[in-house]
Amino acid sequence: MGDSAKLTCFEDRLGMRVGMFWNSEGPRGRRLFAHSTSPSDVDTLSVDEPLHVRALWRFLSEHLDHDVRLLGGNSPEWESVSSEVYYGLRFIGRNEFADDPPLADYANGSWQPAQVWSDRPRTRPVSGRACLACFGDRLSLPLDFSAPPDMNRAVFRFLAEHVYHDVHLLGTPPAGHFVTVGAREPSLSEYADGSWPSR
Ligand SMILES: [Zn+2]
Ligand SMILES: [Zn+2]
Repeated sequence: MGDSAKLTCFEDRLGMRVGMFWNSEGPRGRRLFAHSTSPSDVDTLSVDEPLHVRALWRFLSEHLDHDVRLLGGNSPEWESVSSEVYYGLRFIGRNEFADDPPLADYANGSWQPAQVWSDRPRTRPVSGRACLACFGDRLSLPLDFSAPPDMNRAVFRFLAEHVYHDVHLLGTPPAGHFVTVGAREPSLSEYADGSWPSR
């Protein structure tokens, strides 16, 4: 069965479809995001498409420490998100409602929300401190906002493999024991190219 993944900030009521995947067993990192699409089609973001990558990094840098979740189509929260379109949930690149940010405008920074929902001060993105973390798998991926190619592949792998999980977008590293990409094992390149963990 096909399923889709969405990165959604519940505080800012802003969502982004990040990929489609087939709902099968086993690791799906290779399948999700596998299909290159036209730049304006964000049903599936592609790591090879600079516009997609820029849009994703804008999202990551602007919603640190917000109530961000990585939802699948069957997530209970997704139901409530879907029914909230009339209460201001905007979807990047959806092109369905007037205030959906066009992907290109979002990626290049020209789109700004007409109404700011979250009144929380923004956490400044600091490379190496901000991270994506899965609390279920105890895995943390420190983010490098200069977005070198290995970093982009690592972010896409992380998003692909932790849909439905307890994922957080943090401004500072999580407390407690986490496997941290790039700290000891795995290195960023091992994580990015999929050679970790060895099977
Ligand atoms: Zn937010
Ligand atoms: Zn996970």
